[in-house]
Amino acid sequence: MSVLDLARADIRALAGYSSARMEASGGTVLLNANESARPPSFPGGNGLNRYPDPQPRALVETLAELYGSTPDRVLVTRGSDEAIDLLTRAFCRAGQDGIVISPPTFGMYAVCARIQGAAVVEAPLGADGSLDADKLIAAVTPATRLVYVCTPNNPTGNLVALDTLERIAKALQGRALLVVDEAYAEFAGVHSATQLIDTYDHVAVLRTLSKAWSLAGARVGTLVAHADVIGLLRRIIPPYPLPLPCVDAALAVLSYEGRRVQRHHVHEVLNERARMFAALGALPGVRAVLPSHANFFAVRFDDAAGTYKRLLAAGVVVRDITKYPGLADALRITIGTGNENDRVLAVLRAGAGA
Ligand SMILES: *Cc1c(COP(=O)(O)O)cnc(C)c1O
Repeated sequence: MSVLDLARADIRALAGYSSARMEASGGTVLLNANESARPPSFPGGNGLNRYPDPQPRALVETLAELYGSTPDRVLVTRGSDEAIDLLTRAFCRAGQDGIVISPPTFGMYAVCARIQGAAVVEAPLGADGSLDADKLIAAVTPATRLVYVCTPNNPTGNLVALDTLERIAKALQGRALLVVDEAYAEFAGVHSATQLIDTYDHVAVLRTLSKAWSLAGARVGTLVAHADVIGLLRRIIPPYPLPLPCVDAALAVLSYEGRRVQRHHVHEVLNERARMFAALGALPGVRAVLPSHANFFAVRFDDAAGTYKRLLAAGVVVRDITKYPGLADALRITIGTGNENDRVLAVLRAGAGA
């Protein structure tokens, strides 16, 4: 049994679009893609007259090294959001197959499933906010194709241990793909689930440069998965997904100097996270701060709606997560700079006495 047996048969049989850039490389007179022979005239426009490399080798190799994997297991996507969409399309037949999620969790899993016409089965987090692995496994049916585990989880910040992920992977063997979303892993300092792919060809890991690498605007996500899964998704990804300036930005943050700055930024977030956890927890009006391994907190308030409005009136925008199950009294607050965090605390202190 191969992981591809879980994929849609029609996608497996699809040839996929073959772009000019894929069919021939090398050569110096490029007359095969109907591009302009002239670059645009603005500064930095050189090279933009050409279609970009669909999967630039240097970036693929750098990301493989960064995520503890190999280039044949890497697909670079427009944000990990695109990887979620591709997985859904390749593995879920409309009206027949489905996914399993553990809410409250990241919204895109269910959104992509619904767009594809796939069913969404929920195995909610436990009362203490931790993942209930047994409940998750029990929710899997013959129609399940993708099982999502987000760790650290958005919006609760809780972590799922690697041995729990392996237990889930074992239970899903031959039944469904386990998709581990590690968008916030850099803030948790734990081992990546990419190592599980050596043993389990049905494990896929989502990573992104959007959070800890300061590059949300460039849209660079990575799917790390078995080479067969990568090959399958390459057939359905649009021909030139990665704009040249975004690839350059990714290579810049992953350079030696870029990594030095990134470590500094992550360190700052971890310091501020510890400070904010203590400070928020001590405020009147705050019921609880959920312990977080990410760069945000879910905070329970006596009056979440009023707090949201007070923060907004002071120019501070946080995320209203009161619609999420179990979080009807909560707001999600991202860790900002020291000054930004001080502003949050000042507004909450002032409001509590009013
Ligand atoms: C932000 C986020 C993403 C999306 O990241 P992009 O790479 O920017 O698309 C994926 N998963 C989770 C849990 C996130 O919070």
